[in-house]
Amino acid sequence: MKQGNIGVTTENIFPVIKKFLYSDHEIFIREIVSNAVDATQKLKTLAGKGDFKGELGELKVTISVDKEAKTITVSDRGIGMTADEIEKYINQIAFSGANDFLDKYKDDANAIIGHFGLGFYSSYMVSKQVDIITKSYQEDAPAVKWSCDGSPVFTMEEVEKADRGTDIIMHIDDDCLEFLESGKIEGLLRKYCHFLPIPVACGKKTEWKDGKQVETEEDNIINSVEPLWTKKPSELKDEDYKDFYRHLFPMADEPLFWIHLNVDYPFNLTGVLYFPKIKNNIEMQRNKIQLYCNQVFVTDAVEGIVPEFLTLLHGVIDSPDIPLNVSRSYLQSDANVKKISSYITKKVSDKLASIFKNERADFEMKWDDIKIFIHYGLLSEQDYYDKAKNYFLFKDTDGKYFTLEEYNTLVKENQTNKDGQVVYLYANDPEAQYTYIQAAKDKGYNVLLMDGQLDTPLVGMLEQKLEKTTITRVDSDTVDRLIRKEDEQKEKLDEERSSKLSAIFNSQMPRTDKTDFHVEAQPMGEEQLPVMITQSEYMRRMKEMSRLQPGMSFYGEMPDMYTLVLNTDSPLIKQVLTHSEEQTAEALKPIEAELRGLNARQAVLRQEQDKKKPEEITQEEKDDLKKCSDDIQEQNRKKDDVLAQYAKSNDRVHQLIDLALLQNGMLKGESLTRFVKRSIDLIK
Ligand code: ADP
Repeated sequence: MKQGNIGVTTENIFPVIKKFLYSDHEIFIREIVSNAVDATQKLKTLAGKGDFKGELGELKVTISVDKEAKTITVSDRGIGMTADEIEKYINQIAFSGANDFLDKYKDDANAIIGHFGLGFYSSYMVSKQVDIITKSYQEDAPAVKWSCDGSPVFTMEEVEKADRGTDIIMHIDDDCLEFLESGKIEGLLRKYCHFLPIPVACGKKTEWKDGKQVETEEDNIINSVEPLWTKKPSELKDEDYKDFYRHLFPMADEPLFWIHLNVDYPFNLTGVLYFPKIKNNIEMQRNKIQLYCNQVFVTDAVEGIVPEFLTLLHGVIDSPDIPLNVSRSYLQSDANVKKISSYITKKVSDKLASIFKNERADFEMKWDDIKIFIHYGLLSEQDYYDKAKNYFLFKDTDGKYFTLEEYNTLVKENQTNKDGQVVYLYANDPEAQYTYIQAAKDKGYNVLLMDGQLDTPLVGMLEQKLEKTTITRVDSDTVDRLIRKEDEQKEKLDEERSSKLSAIFNSQMPRTDKTDFHVEAQPMGEEQLPVMITQSEYMRRMKEMSRLQPGMSFYGEMPDMYTLVLNTDSPLIKQVLTHSEEQTAEALKPIEAELRGLNARQAVLRQEQDKKKPEEITQEEKDDLKKCSDDIQEQNRKKDDVLAQYAKSNDRVHQLIDLALLQNGMLKGESLTRFVKRSIDLIK
């Protein structure tokens, strides 16, 4: 028997492994099984070259868990090791600056393991003792047993072993006994070893017999050795891709389409990315790309490797060229990784472009499902617009699709305003905005449908990219003013009457903290409704953006601001105006007379004071003017009171306001009940 010290410069590597690698204990199984698979692959290679002439036999890796003995054993029938090889590959782990490094990466087990080539030693994360029993494929090499109990001292002796290959026997530590629980190791194998190229067996398959689960003779193979991405696209059918997708994501809907990645220069990368059907929640869909390194699962957190918007895709990427054992920040600056990221973007974009070009009808059919990726890409990747602008689609409220260019051609003539801006109109809720859409269509305008969850920021982004284009929601103004054109000069009410009308309605508008109404009178044409509510595009957009972006909470806290527009061309509004004038004439007469006097006086006072320099104006004169303005205010208040008094008892005013609110889904609670009662009274 031989005894010796393991060649590490730190006094004892084991406490280090245990102490620092606590977070990712489970990866020991990946490391040990990968080694077994590697050893098996090597033997196959040797056999292929004719350097190994013996029987290969059944090549598989077997994992057995012995709960009683508290061991996990990984056995392979690969190349095995001679005593010399153990000495060289297991005993001599020489490294320098260990402490510094361990300190820096103490939370990142992958980094440490990769850096030191500690694959085998990761078994000590869960074991108090590990035995290696191995027999080299080389003829006449005696089998060797190596054993080490976690001290820097190991033992090595010759033993009997019938078959070539290696058994790694891990004696599980008392604080890691959970790994012996039934199903635990199998679960980990399915996670990390699902696609390893050599069959991996974990116990036997069980079946239901005489009321209980019993073991069968058949190995419980947990992996599929030739995963789809390792095959040639030309050999695969659509059904194969769909099957593989179902295999990866059993709960998901069928994917929309997929992209088979396959490069070997300047880096090596294979994989299949699927466009999933995205439901509502973007976040839920992330982390569905699995990253493999030669078919060994590494992680499903691929940010940094895949551009952000493509992390919504599902699938697998396999690359031996992604430095897996480094920190995330390093990863993002790695040249290979950058190339990989832009390669993937290009591939995805090319695929979209080609579907658009060759199967436009199909592309349009899928658009509603894929637009979220494209919108997200446009918003998060600077350069993506140049790629996407050729296949980006607008959908209008009639369900027709247009490219950016097509749409511009469609609406340019009729929807250019007097400043030369082409105004694109959109609705985000065609049901709620039905009247507005209809009004716009009656004018020959086209209305887009923008009901995606990223449409608000997208509208802003498109306005910046598209030349001379404004995008505004169809209910952001009255139809005449959505796209202002020079020639439209409708007859306006005089200011006095118009302000009276506004005051009447304003006095009866609901008052809440969350909404603010501004009332104005406008000639909208006889055919239009008597009242309408509009909401300024700017404020609404700012408020919506504030919900998406922190730091804009100022807008978020502002009330929703609406405008109630009274159509002065409407006979109903005209009636209200004339009726109110008749009814209030008497009460208003003295007030208006007073106001006329006060206004005249104010004008005179102002004129006089304007002639003087500020320092020449006496206090008395200042007081005079102030008193005059106060009196005007007071009289105006009285006037408003008279109008409010009139409005309060006028059902028509209430009915009109309520109808406008109702049309925008804003009539609720008590007001709604009052409206219903009043309506019933009206038809009685
Ligand atoms: P790495 O796999 O990164 O080289 P490891 O510590 O995991 O580092 O293994 C060191 C070496 O030990 C391997 O390169 C291989 O030569 C040898 N080895 C480990 N496990 C086995 C095995 N099951 N069969 C044959 N050789 C093995």
